[in-house]
Formats: sequence, C-alpha cells, structure tokens
Amino acid sequence: SFDVSPPFLNRLIYRQKRKSLHAVNDVTFSVPRGGCLSLVGESGCGKSTVARLVTGIYPPSSGEIRFAPGKSGAPLSAQMIFQDPYASLNPRWRVKNIIAEPLRELKLRETPAEVESRVAELLEIVGLNAADGDKFPHEFSGGQRQRISIARALASEPEFLVCDEPTSALDVSVQAQILNLMRRLQDELGLTYLFISHDLSVVRHMSDRIAVMYLGRIVEEADTETLFADPKHPYTRLLLQTIPNIEHPQRDREVTAGEVPSPLAPPPGCAFHTRCQLATERCKSDRPELLAKADGARVACHFA
Ligand code: SF4
Ligand code: MG
Repeated sequence: SFDVSPPFLNRLIYRQKRKSLHAVNDVTFSVPRGGCLSLVGESGCGKSTVARLVTGIYPPSSGEIRFAPGKSGAPLSAQMIFQDPYASLNPRWRVKNIIAEPLRELKLRETPAEVESRVAELLEIVGLNAADGDKFPHEFSGGQRQRISIARALASEPEFLVCDEPTSALDVSVQAQILNLMRRLQDELGLTYLFISHDLSVVRHMSDRIAVMYLGRIVEEADTETLFADPKHPYTRLLLQTIPNIEHPQRDREVTAGEVPSPLAPPPGCAFHTRCQLATERCKSDRPELLAKADGARVACHFA
C-alpha cells in the first residue's frame, strides 16, 4: 500500500478551479497494469472525485487506495490529465519550460542540453515539434494544448495516467485524434489508464473494463464487450440508448429520462429509483448491493 504524490501535483492544481467535490461511497475497482478502466456517469456522479482520490489530490475520508509496485519496484507514479488543459498550463511560461519542469524537479535529466533534447522528444511523441517549445500555451488550439499537457504528464515517466474527461472540451474530430494518440501512447509506453467520461461512446474503444457510476456509487462494472452486449443495470441501458449512432445521428445525446436528483441528497434505497421504469416499492427503501454475476460483471440492482 502506498500513496501517490508527485512533488509538482500541488502546482498542477493550483490554477484548477475548485469545484465542490461530490461524495462517493463504497467505490471499489481495480485497474490491471497496462489496461484501461473507465468510469462513466452523468455530472455529479462522483467520477471526478474518484480521480482526485486516486491521484492523492484529496485524501479519502475512509478506505484505502492500493497500488502494486511500479516496474522498478519503486512506488508507482501517477499523473493526471484534466478536461481543460488551459487551466493547468501556466500561461506565462513557454511550452518548453512547462514540459521541462517535471524533468528538473524530479532530476530526470542533468544538463540543460539533456533537458532540451528530452523536451523535444516529448513534443514529438505527442505529435508536436521541437520548435513549438518556444511558444506560449495561448498560441495553440485546444487539441494542441491537450497534447502539451499530455507531454508534460509523460515527462515524469508515469506508469499510470488518470484522465478526467480529457477530450470533452474538444470538437468531435479533434477528440478522435487525442483518443488515438492516447491509445498509441498506451501501447508504446505500456501505460495504465483510469479514464473518466460522461460518454460511453468515447470510452468504448479505450477501455478494457467500464464502471458506471450513479450518485456516488458504482452501479455496474463489466468488461467493455459485456457491458455493451449485455448491459444489466437499467441506468447503463439508459446511457447506452442515448449514444448517438450512424443510423440516428440526430439522436439527443442527453440522458432525458427524468431529472438527476441532487448528489447532496441521493434518494434512499436504490438511488436510481426516481428514474427507473422497473422500480418497485422495495427499490425505494432497500439499497441493492453491487453483486458479482457469472460473466464477471458486477451489478447493483434487485432485478438484474
Ligand atoms: Fe431500478 Fe430497482 Fe434496479 Fe434500482 S434496484 S435499478 S430502482 S429495478
Ligand atoms: Mg467532472
């Protein structure tokens, strides 16, 4: 057991707007090394809170986060990639200095020449070029800025990346480019991902497993194929229905069946009962446990 706290993490969140964090309860999952687990749910479900707990930005009020040792036997190092890259890139620093900072702080390169050549290498790894290092963050598009924050995250040679909606501020075509980049980097560098999204279609091709969260709890977790082929929780089925597809490009992407209750006061029993078409009296008072099914899925529904 051990704790993740790269020395520059505080600085990284310094410019991040502090939104109130939503509570999470009894959230358990494991991410296999080299794999990708995605947490999916509507806003307020607590997925960003989980991301911040896992990276050590905030401590859990109870429970523990355990990491297997990293490749070198040293504690595994985690890095976080945020939705809004601009908020986490210092606007007054040239990009090369932003990327060099972790190299210097962690003393991963000794001489200025070594730092410079590593920065150039990192820029190229993410599809930018060495000359881009002389520019400032505002000179780049949203997609390029996300490439810069990925380069900076990679500078500390993490094995584990926690990605909180890294593409949801981007246009759809740019989203696909960043997702492809992240998949390529995962293969090439053997990275492990915890990927956070409100959109199942975004994580489908990234994920080995997907955990669906609703109002602070995991309601279903399964390997990606099983989740799409045989979704067992009514909320997962609702999310899947709202995925736009080629036959129905105009389909509304918002989940429309009922209002999401306040995360501050989740309904008693099964928190989804106010929106669930299958809800019975029992669902209003009796909270379903997250139980393992024969196919390896875990589901929290009395009738799954
Ligand atoms: Fe719906 Fe009841 Fe299942 Fe909750 S426990 S998802 S309310 S059927
Ligand atoms: Mg969020």
